[in-house]
Amino acid sequence: MRIVVLGAGVVGVTTAWYLAQSGHEVIVADRQPLPGLETSFANGGQVSVSHAEPWANPMAPLQVLRWLGQEDAPLLWRWRCDPALWRWGIAFLRECLPARTRANIGALVRLGLYSRDCLDALRRELCLDYDHLGHGILHIYTNIHAFGHARDQADVMARYGCERFQCTPERCVEIEPALRDFQSYLAGGIHTPTDESGDAHRFTRALADHCATRGVIFRMGETVVSLEEVQGKVVAARLLTGERLHADAFVVALGCRSTALVRPLGIRLPVYPAKGYSLTIPVEPEDLVPTVSITDDSRKIVFSRLGDRLRVAGTAEFSGYNTAPNPLRAAALARRAVEIFPDIRLPDDLAHWSGLRPATPGNVPIIGSTGLGNLYVNTGHGTLGWTLACGSGRLLADLVNGKPPALPPEPYRPR
Ligand SMILES: Cc1cc2nc3c(=O)[nH]c(=O)nc-3n(C[C@H](O)[C@H](O)[C@H](O)COP(=O)(O)OP(=O)(O)OC[C@H]3O[C@@H](n4cnc5c(N)ncnc54)[C@H](O)[C@@H]3O)c2cc1C
Repeated sequence: MRIVVLGAGVVGVTTAWYLAQSGHEVIVADRQPLPGLETSFANGGQVSVSHAEPWANPMAPLQVLRWLGQEDAPLLWRWRCDPALWRWGIAFLRECLPARTRANIGALVRLGLYSRDCLDALRRELCLDYDHLGHGILHIYTNIHAFGHARDQADVMARYGCERFQCTPERCVEIEPALRDFQSYLAGGIHTPTDESGDAHRFTRALADHCATRGVIFRMGETVVSLEEVQGKVVAARLLTGERLHADAFVVALGCRSTALVRPLGIRLPVYPAKGYSLTIPVEPEDLVPTVSITDDSRKIVFSRLGDRLRVAGTAEFSGYNTAPNPLRAAALARRAVEIFPDIRLPDDLAHWSGLRPATPGNVPIIGSTGLGNLYVNTGHGTLGWTLACGSGRLLADLVNGKPPALPPEPYRPR
């Protein structure tokens, strides 16, 4: 089959790879000049299967209320007259119910474990170099109540086969000596040694190169403006230039821009942009900076060592599609980085980046066939797009091929 994949982020490229591997003629179209330049560009770098709890959990509504109006809050909800934001917010509240949270955790962990295996296999098969580190992830807590809640969640995750170890502050420092100066602030930590980190952008570019050598055609710099439907089937994707890309099947993997493309066809995807920020700090070999990826639970900030750089990323702002950086929120990241790791030296020209996570209310991605038989979506990966990309790409390819997938597809099916 000839298949057009729309979007060359980490999700679109992994999808293209698995489709090409199963013998299809694949064309990838993206508006950027190179793959992985939007949300997959400078994320937190964590492949965090064992920390797959969604933002929507029973504690979230109270937390969001407490942070309302705080410009540098970890999770910032901007009141706007935007029906999509309100619809999304109401659905988010529903996903905070304990039973929904449990179901979402189950769906995320199952896909996460599968995805990590797929990523592992790809790294070995293709010798991909993307600053991968297999030192695990350490979640640190400064609040004793939040740590207590995390211990309860650890039991839930253990049921799904995730290895999570509770740590005293002393043990946290043994695992990651760069936390030395922050030990007195710690209530405890949760270590997940099987988690990983790496640069999603480097991975996306490297895999796209392998796709190209296996015949995948990349149409970069092409904006897709609509999909053309004839008698219940999509026949073409129309580009801004007026050109039509014809194919037997289409996969929409445009991150949070997927929603607008499929809406004229009567398909509603509950995906809303959750803006996040990151900083990338150059480090010297002698600097005491972490090599174990760290998540600071109280601020929702992650730290990942990517070769000779430290990526600091996090926070979420629900304010539409505007990617303009907010200096206050970027400064909060830098401040916290120096508080925890005083050895860090921030350069004067520190580069800020912001990206829009394609967030579903429960953080479970949407993968599979839509009401139109030959139109598929692979989007809505929210906080876990890098963690879930390979598994999602492979699951989508299995669904296109009519092959029984390795995991039940129901939780991810478009509704
Ligand atoms: C601050 C931050 C930290 C994060 N940290 C982590 C982390 O540690 N671990 C993790 O697993 N995930 C993390 N994420 C989430 C992860 O980065 C995303 O879920 C993932 O990148 C989404 O990938 P995607 O391919 O769906 O979207 P994108 O990477 O945005 O790809 C979509 C592509 O579609 C293209 N496109 C859009 N509209 C059009 C159009 N009309 N025509 C043509 N092309 C178009 C874009 O150019 C883009 O290349 C983080 C996100 C942020 C913002």
